[in-house]
Amino acid sequence: MAQRVVFIDTKPFWDFDYGPTHPLKMWRLKLTQELQRAFGLLEQVEIVEPRMATDEEVLVFHEPNYLEALASADEGIWLPSLIGYGLGTGDCPVMKGVYTASMLVAGASAQAAEFVLEGKAQIAFNMAGGLHHAMPNYASGFCYINDPVVAIYKLLQKFERVAYIDIDAHHGDGVQVAFYSNPKVLTISLHENGRYLFPGTGFESEMGEGEGFGSALNIPFMPYAGDDVYLRVFDEIVLPALEKFKPQAIVTQLGADALHDDPITHWNLTTHSYLRAIQAFKDMNLPWVALGGGGYNIANVCRGWTLALAIALDVDLPERLPEEWKQLAQKYGVYLDRLRDLRPTESTSVVRADTERVINWLKQNHPLLS
Ligand SMILES: [Zn+2]
Repeated sequence: MAQRVVFIDTKPFWDFDYGPTHPLKMWRLKLTQELQRAFGLLEQVEIVEPRMATDEEVLVFHEPNYLEALASADEGIWLPSLIGYGLGTGDCPVMKGVYTASMLVAGASAQAAEFVLEGKAQIAFNMAGGLHHAMPNYASGFCYINDPVVAIYKLLQKFERVAYIDIDAHHGDGVQVAFYSNPKVLTISLHENGRYLFPGTGFESEMGEGEGFGSALNIPFMPYAGDDVYLRVFDEIVLPALEKFKPQAIVTQLGADALHDDPITHWNLTTHSYLRAIQAFKDMNLPWVALGGGGYNIANVCRGWTLALAIALDVDLPERLPEEWKQLAQKYGVYLDRLRDLRPTESTSVVRADTERVINWLKQNHPLLS
């Protein structure tokens, strides 16, 4: 029998605008949801309207003075006092509704967690979520409220061990900070090496501290890494670590910026890697909160998250894209011919050697692998 899947409606976010020069386009959520609809996937989910997060839900991680500053920015008026909270930078501009939209994203992830926590759904999707860079007292990397952290705390009300797996091209730094000394939460992040990409962290030697030593697992990749090294890491590092940790629920951040031709990252992954990861999450057969994340090549976002929802629903999508959707996408200047990439990519010898080094180091030093 198909498992019940809840889908948090992204419509309330479609018109939210970071500004004309900002790479994060919220209308990507509209194009993605329309593609999911055109393929008939939304007929098979329960669509739920998002709600605002409560102060209590976000104060498990964020500091009260930061939340106050963010609330004061909701009118879209920047004041010099906000800059200390990372508000009003190029990455995290102050725009009208910034607090309302951020609390709605966080509320949506909290809702997703509630559905799986209460057993009302096996899988809950919040594509607007996955804002993994937000820190306790400052906004960072397009993220204002850390909704994955909110969702994980919610799941900890019932589950003893929760695994967070982040496949965005950027290191999931904010989530790692939240649980760095917490043995109940394993944070796994696969990302482009911090020497080459924001936020500059996520090295293999970051493994947690104190009681939580071993509860962080980082796998950095050199720029232009291909499917060959990614799939190897998945099989040799990620899956064995999850097997050892034995989570009772998972939260995934499914950023689509690790796919090839993203304008702000430098990876060379195809849908072969992406599908392998999503299928592995599905096969764990656990309560699963699936969040969105980065993705600045809009065509990749549309196909990545549509394929992810199809896997959650056990639906095998045809390769051909619905004509009505292609016409809509063209109005936005988005062109997509294939849902899946034809062939997996291969890495250069330099990338392969570096991944080999990381794999060996982790196998020798990480408590979940050694
Ligand atoms: Zn990213």
